[in-house]
Amino acid sequence: MKRFALRPFALLATLAVASGIASGYYHFVHYDTKTAPFLPIYEKFDLASLPGKTIQYYISANGPTKLAPRDSLTSVISQVRAAAMAWNVEASDLSLAFGGISPEGAARNGPGIDVIFSDEIPPGLIALGGPTKRADDMAEDADGRSFVPIVRSLLVFNRDLSQRPSYGDAFYLSAVHEFGHTLGLQHTLTSSAMSTEITRAVSKAWPLAADDVAAISLLYPHPQFQSATGAIAGRVVLAGDGVGLASVVALPPRGQAVSTLTNPDGTYRIEGLPPGDYYLYAHPLPPALAAEVSAANIVLPKGPDQEPLQAGPNFETQFFPGTREWQQAGLVSVAAGAVTEGLNFSVQPRSVPFIHSVQTYSYPGQYGVKGAFVNFASPRGFIVAAGAGILSGPASAARPAEGLTASVIGDGVSVTGLRPFTSEFMVIDLQQSGPQLLDGPRHIVFSLDGSIYVLPSAFTVVQKGPPSIDAISVAPGGLQNRTLALSGANLSSGTRYWFDGQPATLVQTAESNAVVVAPPAPAGHVAVVTALNSDGQTSMFTQFNAPPTYSYDVSLEGISTVTITPDRLPVGADSVIEISAPGAMFTEGQALAGFGSSDITVQRVVALSPSRVAAAVRVGANAAAGTSANLTIASGLKWFVQPAAVTLRQPDPERLAFASPDQSMTASETQSALQPNSNATLRILNLTQAGIAAGLSLTLGDKSAPILAASPGQITVRIPNLAAGPVLARLTAGGEIALALLDIDAPPPSILSVFGTFSVPDATRPASVGDLLTVLITGIPDLGTQIASARASVTVGTTSHQVSDLVRIWQEPVAYQMQFRLGSVPAGRQNLIVMIDGRTSASFPIWTR
Ligand SMILES: [Zn+2]
Repeated sequence: MKRFALRPFALLATLAVASGIASGYYHFVHYDTKTAPFLPIYEKFDLASLPGKTIQYYISANGPTKLAPRDSLTSVISQVRAAAMAWNVEASDLSLAFGGISPEGAARNGPGIDVIFSDEIPPGLIALGGPTKRADDMAEDADGRSFVPIVRSLLVFNRDLSQRPSYGDAFYLSAVHEFGHTLGLQHTLTSSAMSTEITRAVSKAWPLAADDVAAISLLYPHPQFQSATGAIAGRVVLAGDGVGLASVVALPPRGQAVSTLTNPDGTYRIEGLPPGDYYLYAHPLPPALAAEVSAANIVLPKGPDQEPLQAGPNFETQFFPGTREWQQAGLVSVAAGAVTEGLNFSVQPRSVPFIHSVQTYSYPGQYGVKGAFVNFASPRGFIVAAGAGILSGPASAARPAEGLTASVIGDGVSVTGLRPFTSEFMVIDLQQSGPQLLDGPRHIVFSLDGSIYVLPSAFTVVQKGPPSIDAISVAPGGLQNRTLALSGANLSSGTRYWFDGQPATLVQTAESNAVVVAPPAPAGHVAVVTALNSDGQTSMFTQFNAPPTYSYDVSLEGISTVTITPDRLPVGADSVIEISAPGAMFTEGQALAGFGSSDITVQRVVALSPSRVAAAVRVGANAAAGTSANLTIASGLKWFVQPAAVTLRQPDPERLAFASPDQSMTASETQSALQPNSNATLRILNLTQAGIAAGLSLTLGDKSAPILAASPGQITVRIPNLAAGPVLARLTAGGEIALALLDIDAPPPSILSVFGTFSVPDATRPASVGDLLTVLITGIPDLGTQIASARASVTVGTTSHQVSDLVRIWQEPVAYQMQFRLGSVPAGRQNLIVMIDGRTSASFPIWTR
């Protein structure tokens, strides 16, 4: 969010001067050929070399020197962590994880992202980011595509943050944007997080747009990414020649755009499109703004000789197929797993730059919000817009350019007029034009003298105003006065609450109020409280100038010391350590640990108690034995650095250890899951006859697990009655101890019975196609009175069936029932299987005819 007085272009200008590292989704692209076909080679981290496909970011101990009132280092760190989290999306296999506070001189050999604070950044600029070190040689990813491995990236924040409080949307969104650069993403022009500041239309409640998700997933695809999304491909030509670096945009009528830039021969391929209908248009890059090194500060693709490849000639923007009237454009249908090809553009030259770089604001309160939101129930059914080419006349009497028109793509909203506002901005008046107005982004097409400019997500339709928090009071519930009652306006059950950058735990929600548990924080810490609504609006839209705060008790216990067991970690191996930190108030999901060094990666942290966590760590093979590392632990907003917390040692191949999860931890192929009240055989490295003879004992969490049998290399144990989830296993053999984090599975669903109209469909009374069958299920935990049908499915033979919601019919023991109509299945004996939350039951035989 920005105040109006700020000149919007100043930020970009300084970015360009300051660095060459940053600035359709677009990547850092190389080509290994000078002639078609062109296949872009991207820069990205090598997923295969990252433990747990996780890239760690390390925050420098040398923090900001100037902060805004109410701000603190703790708050800044929490917002940086929250911004990194935004990139952990389902469609992408890459995860970002907090690697700790990095001391001077920490190991930076391995892959990682360094977050530092610097005086070198020009005033007014929040941050810069991008890859800084690449491997010398190209590599090939799992899909056989060449890429340039990024080894190290840098995210630099200004040390003077006095003008940019960390709780504001602007700081957070800049951090999200710069993290995007560090992962291999460049600027786009389609209103996403990776858009330049000008067209960026995201918020703290919606940090990423569809274009960002497609961009990150294309680099680091989840296995299902290709099959769940579609692609379109074609070529942009001008007088028969391909146009390089033209932006081709897929624009759903009511949704977010996804775009890409063309190859040097004008070919393009937009991947990662959610299935649906899209308008398609091609536009040239805008001219470089004052002091930009290139259009939108995009780093040009490089040819085989490392020379940058320039953009093609300027041309008239057009919709597919060959029209400048979006009303005449055809919708292109995109199906999951399919590529639609041949979507070609033949464009006309245009010498003079046209309208470009348009940005829009709305005014829900006293100041402008970028990424405009329009609520037609309020009297403010308008947005304001600034940009090159939309105003004319002297600054003192600027007015919309003669002949300029604007129209809204999609139904439900129309433009009723354009009027002068200030020397830089004009007002676009909007009105609801249909009876049923659905939430979501809308796009505006500006038209002048037969040429067009399209602004995706020019505004978002919402049904109510932004949330606000008017009062915060301590509620019954204790936890050191961290249970709080919040009240305000436009809150709902879908509202999330952040204390600085940390989410609060929801206890109870209602219209206009909520009860939450605030995250742990240092004694006396003052946190800014933000409400984030599911429609994309946040309380910062109206409360940025005087945000609500919560002051934590000054008597809160802090962390003063941390003990690690064991504190010597073998080089080139996995270990599990126990970390004790009295006063931490750990809760699951809010506990983090990091060693500030790329030599040691934390793969997992599990809260064992309010003062204790277990962490799975891996020490790289290139780490030097004898060196020590600091440990940073974080619990909510609390964090603490223990100097020289662990020392690296030579690996000891003789040492007792659980087999690592990378190998098979369990001895049997069929028994990969550990279930309560069942037997399991676990592989134990270096368990000798002598160790067994010296006496074995195993605890899982705080329960003892009887050892039923032991032989060199393995033990068979009875898993006690434990709740599903991770548990710390501790095996003692003679004087040696081995630790591991084991996952206890929930028991699978079990089919008690299946009923047709009157009875079990057996050989004498088989079920017929169309019969309503009822399935009784036990064995699953109590998941409430009703479980949504989407979480369950029934397969009969090989045919999968839609089911009704699961309804709980008994509580002691827990039993559920669901129903389905028998589809077309062959006659005879069939196996019926139920799947709930991804867990499959044993089969139950029924007969069909
Ligand atoms: Zn940027």
